[in-house]
Amino acid sequence: MKTFLAATLSFLLFYSTALAEENRQTLLNERLIYYTAYHHQGVPWYYLAAIDQFERNIQPLRQDIEKKDGPLALTIPADRWFGPLHPDQSNLSPYFIGFFGGIGQDANGDGKADPNDPEDIFGSMADYINSYGSFKDALHAYYERKESVSQIMTIAELYQQFNTLDLYTHVFPLQKDYLYSYRSTWGGKRGWGGRRMHEGTDLFAGYGTPVLATTYGKIEALEWNDYGGWRVGLRDIHNVYHYYAHLSSFKEGLKQGDIVKAGDLIGYVGSSGYGKEGTSGKFPPHLHYGMYIDNGKNQWAYDPTPSLRKWESS
Ligand SMILES: [Zn+2]
Repeated sequence: MKTFLAATLSFLLFYSTALAEENRQTLLNERLIYYTAYHHQGVPWYYLAAIDQFERNIQPLRQDIEKKDGPLALTIPADRWFGPLHPDQSNLSPYFIGFFGGIGQDANGDGKADPNDPEDIFGSMADYINSYGSFKDALHAYYERKESVSQIMTIAELYQQFNTLDLYTHVFPLQKDYLYSYRSTWGGKRGWGGRRMHEGTDLFAGYGTPVLATTYGKIEALEWNDYGGWRVGLRDIHNVYHYYAHLSSFKEGLKQGDIVKAGDLIGYVGSSGYGKEGTSGKFPPHLHYGMYIDNGKNQWAYDPTPSLRKWESS
């Protein structure tokens, strides 16, 4: 009876996992329909997908912007859609919107430039991008913040490189057949560099233990830092910056700007840092792993331990 129950349960678990996977694929395909519609006008799907993903990332983290349900996240604020001086935001006439300098367009030809219609939203954004010399210029004009522009450019690059929206895989940062141990060290005191809070989790392991990319991402930093020693910064499609410190060395040939897959080797555990370039051995070898999230206004650190536990067991 017990065995039967266990088998049934594991079947149900498998079935629901398979179902969740199928739902996710359906959702991603549904999104892709909106993103690909302007390709022939010279706006690649991964530009629109990257903007939409950025908006999806920031909405749960912000009080001052609308949280959108449904498959698509992009919302164009009313002032931008209608133009700041437009007298009547119930009037969806594309002519008046254009007259008042709004960017809202009637992309699907139903006579209305509707800020709640996904075809009109994505068509308007595609036109907006096309009205600038480059995607980057358009992003600067729209977001007016260089970190947001850089984050969206990274998402676009990742989508383009892997030619898919499905970049959700995460892996544990240490190769799991090596010995290691960690516990939550979030918020503790630091040993060096004055009164700073410990913004990360220390994973203790021997010198040379392989360190892996936890996510699909772009190498944003790869250099010496007096606190972190040989350190790597990796940015993903979720507005998260993954910080690896105290490495003994980087993977040979890896450089800033490179794109990596979850599970790719990026370096080796060491004890570098707490001094000028090349300083090592001031503490036992470990990987310091930090996670920072950006809400489109600022970026802050959060405790990586729950993520590490999840990735470790998957
Ligand atoms: Zn640490």
